[in-house]
Amino acid sequence: MKAARIVQPNKPLEVQEIETPKPKGSQVLVKILSSGVCHSDLHLWEGAYEGLGGQVIKTTDRGVRYPLTPGHEIAGVVESIGENVKEFAKDDRVLVYPWIGEGLCPACRAGKENLCDKPKSLGIYTDGGYAEYVLVPDKRYLVRLDDKMDIDASAILSCSVLTAYGAVKNAELKPNDTAIVVGAGGIGLMAIQSVKAITGARTIAMDIDDKKLQAAKSNGADVVINSKTQDPVKSVMELTDNLGADAVLDIVNASKTVETDMQLLRKRAKVVLVGLFGGELRLNLVSMPTRAYKLIGSYTGTLSDLTELVALAQRGVIKPIVSDRFKLDQATEALSKLKAGQIIGRGVIHP
Ligand SMILES: [Zn+2]
Ligand SMILES: [Zn+2]
Repeated sequence: MKAARIVQPNKPLEVQEIETPKPKGSQVLVKILSSGVCHSDLHLWEGAYEGLGGQVIKTTDRGVRYPLTPGHEIAGVVESIGENVKEFAKDDRVLVYPWIGEGLCPACRAGKENLCDKPKSLGIYTDGGYAEYVLVPDKRYLVRLDDKMDIDASAILSCSVLTAYGAVKNAELKPNDTAIVVGAGGIGLMAIQSVKAITGARTIAMDIDDKKLQAAKSNGADVVINSKTQDPVKSVMELTDNLGADAVLDIVNASKTVETDMQLLRKRAKVVLVGLFGGELRLNLVSMPTRAYKLIGSYTGTLSDLTELVALAQRGVIKPIVSDRFKLDQATEALSKLKAGQIIGRGVIHP
């Protein structure tokens, strides 16, 4: 089979001919029809990301091995099955849950494999979706798709949309709450849709780009604030009777955005950090206990969250936005465009 692989960080991906895996036991081989291109693929490609004080964290120090076939947003059809698989047959349409754990740590046992101590995520620690086929280690990681579900929209459910959905769940919003979504890019829009779909809370979208704020409005934001041309603190206080917001979901998660987030909070508010922009934060420590704030990191979502999302997407309640389509030999181009901020929405590869 063909796979677009990162052979070395920062070098163009190589389309290689590698052996097609054969499923055994409960494994399933999926023929990939659509594979999303994610920001975390960029970290894998660059081989590093920024830590505290400008320190560089290498992906190889976190257990990543090259050559690697990236890609963790994978939708397609079943190609072949191991001898213990009775529930799926060739050509069944499926979405792959990529956040696979080792199965034995406390998180895995609680159904939170996305937070496993020793993750085996597809496309990060094992070969993923920039390929014609992917070997899924167990049938239980497959979520069935109905015939009507668009295959590209399905693929991006498993990271882009799941990350937004998981963050909204972590915010534990009530219908009378006000939630702020910071960053109205692809994941931000999905967060706005998710707030509307499952919480009923009022949503304020914040960004520095009026075009994105327009998109936020058409995706269900009740109010939009341009934090470049408007004072975000003043605007939020006016909208909340000077109380502040009950939750901020920061899809950017940079020093500057989180510093502002901390000034927008009602007592008891949660700040849910989602984005991977990175940097560091200065905190007023006394206000943490006296105002009972919660600072939460949110990473993707559970298999159970993904099955809920598929149901919501199949009913049209959640509408994933795919904007760019690439072929397998355009993988480097896809990553370069993403890096340059030229993909509005989400790009997918069609192997
Ligand atoms: Zn991702
Ligand atoms: Zn685990």
